[in-house]
Amino acid sequence: MTDMNDRLNQWLRDAHAMEEQAEQMLDAQARRIENYPELKARIEQHISETRSQKQRLEACMEKRGTSWSGMKDLAAQFSALMQAAGGMFAGDEVVKGSMASYTFEHLEIVSYRILVAAAEAAGDAETARVCEEICREEEAMASWLQDHIPQVTQAYLMREATDSGAAKR
Ligand code: MG
Ligand code: FE
Repeated sequence: MTDMNDRLNQWLRDAHAMEEQAEQMLDAQARRIENYPELKARIEQHISETRSQKQRLEACMEKRGTSWSGMKDLAAQFSALMQAAGGMFAGDEVVKGSMASYTFEHLEIVSYRILVAAAEAAGDAETARVCEEICREEEAMASWLQDHIPQVTQAYLMREATDSGAAKR
């Protein structure tokens, strides 16, 4: 039998590693974007939110008397870097990056919905409140991407059709 609290602690560590991956991925994207100022600014805003999310998760774990695993975070960073490196060789990296971000935000949304339910079940109202709050930020980012992906896609296609292959990102 696994205690509910142990499972919740494990899921909080998973979320922390996920945020580590998010930060690396968004950071790699923001640094490479040159011609999409609105997208770059929204990604930069979400990088700040992501760093704060990590700190809020750490505070929850500290309060619960558990710690996060550095190894898991390192693995997450590595996979994010590989993912970003893969995108760099694609001419349409700004479109592929938006696709990856939109997908990743939904992974985050469902992860926090699960955490809210688990924290409520374990009677940890503070962790439930924090995860709810983080979930709202992920939903806002997903909905911004949803609203802007058509514009990014069309701007990209225009650049591709007019620029001779240069500076599409
Ligand atoms: Mg996040
Ligand atoms: Fe996010």
